[in-house]
Amino acid sequence: MHFSDLGLEPELLRAVADKGYDTPTPIQQQAIPPVLAGRDLLAGAQTGTGKTAGFVLPLLQKLGSASGRAPRVLVLTPTRELAAQVAQSVKDYGTHKNLRARVIFGGVGEQPQIDGLRAGCDILIATPGRLLDLANRGLADLSQVAHFVLDEADRMLDMGFIHDIRRVMRLLPSKRQNLLFSATYNDEIRTLAAKLLNDPVHVEVTPRNSTAERVEQVAYRVDKDHKRHLLVHLFKNGIGDEGPWTQALVFTRTKHGANRLAQQLEGAGIRAAAIHGNKSQSARVKALADFKAGKITALVATEVASRGLDIKELPQVVNYELPNVPEDYVHRIGRTARAGAEGHAVSLVAPDEASLLRDIERTMRRPVPFAETPHFAILRQETAAPAQAQQRRDDRPAQAPRKPQAQQRQSNQKPAGRPAGTRSFGGRGSGRPGGFRAGRA
Ligand code: AMP
Repeated sequence: MHFSDLGLEPELLRAVADKGYDTPTPIQQQAIPPVLAGRDLLAGAQTGTGKTAGFVLPLLQKLGSASGRAPRVLVLTPTRELAAQVAQSVKDYGTHKNLRARVIFGGVGEQPQIDGLRAGCDILIATPGRLLDLANRGLADLSQVAHFVLDEADRMLDMGFIHDIRRVMRLLPSKRQNLLFSATYNDEIRTLAAKLLNDPVHVEVTPRNSTAERVEQVAYRVDKDHKRHLLVHLFKNGIGDEGPWTQALVFTRTKHGANRLAQQLEGAGIRAAAIHGNKSQSARVKALADFKAGKITALVATEVASRGLDIKELPQVVNYELPNVPEDYVHRIGRTARAGAEGHAVSLVAPDEASLLRDIERTMRRPVPFAETPHFAILRQETAAPAQAQQRRDDRPAQAPRKPQAQQRQSNQKPAGRPAGTRSFGGRGSGRPGGFRAGRA
């Protein structure tokens, strides 16, 4: 199967060839023909499957060339990062076409966005809040939208956007093509799909959660207070004898935790930056760009920031803390092993996270094997920075000079990962006793 078999026009085939794609991915094979035919679509596909090209390519073809001022395609995304990424895909795939794409999201100045809309727009990619704000003030005209895409609909609902989605839908013409993409299905998504879609074609590419099969997963038992030391050890030594990690995306549960960990990693000589919802858009863009350029080794992210991150050849994902929602684990580890590549995911599991891991395993219907926790040193270094100083540090350039290594006093080289107690760890895994305390002399 080639892209030319899907009925795409030469300009798009050229763009796909420019990108170096040989074969359409399964979602592209299944979605492109019905979208070209004008059908509504209900697509079960997560990031990493090539879903973006699955709707962008046929919609670019349907639009033809630039016309009018108001957008004819509206793509709603849950996060700014995903919006920016979809916009980049539109730019890439539309490089040989004469179409105007604009992106709208909060957290940045609105004037350039308003000016962009005034100048004319064929494809609008937006997060719901800013879009509604501009639409309600008469600055975004949605009356010409003929194709409406809800991307990562499950995430939108998780983030509480259902009312905003409904408000946006009320601003659209009733006659239009609707495409809904979601990685997971639940009753809420089905209700939304029933309201939004008209006789949709169903496509389902990844048997649900199959990311889990492509990613090599391992869990380490480690006390909460020792996680950062183990993480530093992993960055510097890798797993087993594989050598230092080149890069990893590290997930924390809270924004504050992301800031603190990034700071601690930097203190240990690992170039790190945090990315989360409290960061200014420019700080997030910069952190991501620095990470993609290899200027930073560790990108510490919260859940929301992780959505839509498309980082090619990301070898390693770390769950520094397990997510409360099992599906989030699948999304997180889906940041690695993208587009068929191999990936690794490491979870650092404290005793009080045992039940979260069990839920994750139940959801994926496969175990996350425990490996013996490697021996790691306890580094005594950072002192808690006052909140304000920490804030300033958040906003500084990601590639700011590192602390000299000498400042990190290694307090102890005692082997760690040895069970100090006899608590059983959820009765699963290697069967070793838990309690896994790193030794401190
Ligand atoms: P997506 O699921 O849309 O976020 O895409 C995931 C990644 O796959 C992106 O980096 C795309 O550039 C890449 N990709 C999309 N389609 C193809 C294809 N047909 N062949 C190879 N890579 C692709």
